[in-house]
Amino acid sequence: MTIRSFELLQPHSLPEAVELLQKHGDDARAIGGGTTLVILMKQRSLYYPYLVDLQTIPGLNEIKNDGGGVTIGALTTHRTIELSPVIRQSFPALAEAFSHIGNVRVRQTASIGGNLAHADYRLDPPPPLLVLGAQVLAFGPKGARTIALKDFFRGLYENVLDPGEILTEVKIPAMPADGKAVYLRYSTLSANDWPCVNVAAFLRKENNRCKELRLALGGVAVTPLLVSGLEFADDQTLDAGVIEKILNAVDEQISPSSDLRGSEWYKRQMARLFTTKAIAQLNQMIPAS
Ligand SMILES: Cc1cc2nc3c(=O)[nH]c(=O)nc-3n(C[C@H](O)[C@H](O)[C@H](O)COP(=O)(O)OP(=O)(O)OC[C@H]3O[C@@H](n4cnc5c(N)ncnc54)[C@H](O)[C@@H]3O)c2cc1C
Repeated sequence: MTIRSFELLQPHSLPEAVELLQKHGDDARAIGGGTTLVILMKQRSLYYPYLVDLQTIPGLNEIKNDGGGVTIGALTTHRTIELSPVIRQSFPALAEAFSHIGNVRVRQTASIGGNLAHADYRLDPPPPLLVLGAQVLAFGPKGARTIALKDFFRGLYENVLDPGEILTEVKIPAMPADGKAVYLRYSTLSANDWPCVNVAAFLRKENNRCKELRLALGGVAVTPLLVSGLEFADDQTLDAGVIEKILNAVDEQISPSSDLRGSEWYKRQMARLFTTKAIAQLNQMIPAS
């Protein structure tokens, strides 16, 4: 199917892009890599007479390490993040997540900003970004603001950006010296298909006891989910009893729907299995002190 004609507007600054989005209102949409938007327009699921190209705005595709953390420009491609020495060194679980997305052609083109803004429930990057405590920066008609990623996803394919607002950066705080994170994904159709369930976990331990545990899952709720209320595991040895309580907390908070990648029951079982695996891997990665 061919795409209906549209006008590609190419601003050279963020204020100019915001002005164009405001001027054309519901007739305009920001475009990053275009990997999702162009498909949806070709399928005629969406149509915008004006696309505001964010790739012509300088400075939105850089990865910077300022000591206190890492900033990733919203236009940075999946492939750049996957291969970045800074990301591989500081957040290997995040590099791992990006390395699994679609195929190399998609990863060469798609941007982190487009991935998050699309707000699909089964994306690879959100779980690791959520456990790493990421924030996103947005620029819009009212200026710039910072949003914790855990507050960014509003619903299925819905985020909290206001009309005319553009994602500009993703900020990840420096990894604590005693912290480790892992990312696991499970796909049922083919290895490079969207995940059926994906899990990221972050753990800090002291004297062989849990100091802090964070878990996030994708594919099992309408938005990527940061599991809440895991403080009961603090200062505990992560033995079978505590892990069972953690799995129960996960099971209570997820709400998977049955689809071609698995039934609700199956996804609940896979969420248990991959959460257990993620915690076991972290336990092994952090030596007993
Ligand atoms: C074949 C295929 C397989 C895929 N498999 C996976 C997978 O396994 N896991 C996974 O996580 N993802 C997967 N994806 C999704 C892929 O990661 C997304 O296509 C991509 O992240 C969208 O990025 P983009 O830059 O191309 O966004 P675009 O297509 O340009 O835009 C997507 C949406 O985000 C908005 N947008 C884009 N940039 C911004 C911004 N900076 N600020 C505000 N809004 C913005 C657009 O208006 C649009 O609504 C797959 C995609 C394809 C085509």
